[in-house]
Amino acid sequence: MDKKEQELRAQMCEIGKNLFNKDFVAANDGNISARLSEKEILATPTATSKGYITPDSIVKLDLDGNILEAKEGVKPSSEVKMHLRCYKAMKNCNGVVHAHPPYATGFAIKGEVLDKATMPEVVIAMPKIPLAQYGCPSTEEIPDSVEPYFGDYEAVLLESHGALAWGDTLMNAYLNMERLEYIAKLTFITRSIDGERELSKERIDELVALRPKYGK
Ligand SMILES: [Zn+2]
Repeated sequence: MDKKEQELRAQMCEIGKNLFNKDFVAANDGNISARLSEKEILATPTATSKGYITPDSIVKLDLDGNILEAKEGVKPSSEVKMHLRCYKAMKNCNGVVHAHPPYATGFAIKGEVLDKATMPEVVIAMPKIPLAQYGCPSTEEIPDSVEPYFGDYEAVLLESHGALAWGDTLMNAYLNMERLEYIAKLTFITRSIDGERELSKERIDELVALRPKYGK
């Protein structure tokens, strides 16, 4: 196993621990993947808490979902289909994180798009979190529902289910999931104190002009 693969496997375990410690997943929920090469990905195993993944339990797959390498008896998550769609459709996608973070999932259950210009980081980094239409887990319905958002967004709510984030690196996919949940949490908090207040158009425009400096 080369150094890149070793590092990715270790990083997937670390991110799994973060999802677990931050309460972004319950029991065995959620899954993480990373692109290893143009046609190979690494994905977390099914039926395992993301807080307790080991590097050797991670499965290697091709982009059609065929298992290339796995510890005996270990299978990838059945939700890996939405990860595969991300890698197939977006050449610059190198990491995907699926979780059920509670505030974001609350809005996904309510069925609300999060798009209020509440603070600078929101306007600059994630001005809109769309809502991908409900799909039955483990089928092609979820990949079909998220694909329209590829390219323009880096994270979506999955209606009545949870959230999906992707990025040009695995770490950025994880950070997009963190930001998505943070925005949902702040929206929830501000609504408990009379609701969110948006920045003025002038202030939004000056932040939009700053986006290139942040790599957006
Ligand atoms: Zn899920």
